[in-house]
Amino acid sequence: ATFSELGIHKSYIKGLKELNIVKPTEIQETVIPVLLDSKTDLIGLAQTGTGKTAAFGLPVLHAIDTNNTNVQALIIAPTRELVQQIQKQLFRFTKYADHKIFAEGVYGGEKIDKQIKKLTRTTHIIVATPGRLLDLIERGAVDISKIKILVLDEADEMLSMGFKEELNKILKYNTSRRNTWLFSATMPTEIKNIVKNYMSPNAVRV
Ligand code: AMP
Repeated sequence: ATFSELGIHKSYIKGLKELNIVKPTEIQETVIPVLLDSKTDLIGLAQTGTGKTAAFGLPVLHAIDTNNTNVQALIIAPTRELVQQIQKQLFRFTKYADHKIFAEGVYGGEKIDKQIKKLTRTTHIIVATPGRLLDLIERGAVDISKIKILVLDEADEMLSMGFKEELNKILKYNTSRRNTWLFSATMPTEIKNIVKNYMSPNAVRV
């Protein structure tokens, strides 16, 4: 199939082509139609390098209402490098898009005042590491009460880096009104607990 056939809007196709993303990978072919078509939770067992950023990133972009200035999607990843990589990919996907979608990356190691200032501009998508995100929420600089989608990328990595408490706190915010898409290379007990405690029993598993 092509990305168009999977339901990706034509305004993203040119940006994808510039990144040599033309033929969907296996995970993209499986996940994109599911995430575009229905409001569902998703558990994806996936390694890095499989194209999972586009697999969740493109459906996230499709879910954003650009007439609305709220933060509508939150993507949490274990490291600064991964946060920057995801944000950069989202930016490139939207290069030729009809409507401006703003994604901001926040992570530890950068001055928090600078990030707070950036977040006063319209931000539709926040990509963040767990610790910095929680800090920003607790300072009132980020409001995640209106998010429609929460993505946990490399969830097992986040737990092995010691972010369990931060993740649990973040996951407790407005559980009922959002969909959660969890990606992990492995499924240890701690991940199963997150699935059990914070995700729908009807979550799609891929
Ligand atoms: P990821 O697994 O999301 O970290 O992606 C790994 C790399 O594969 C990135 O450099 C992507 O730009 C690239 N990529 C993602 N999807 C495709 C695709 N369908 N065709 C070719 N390259 C891709």
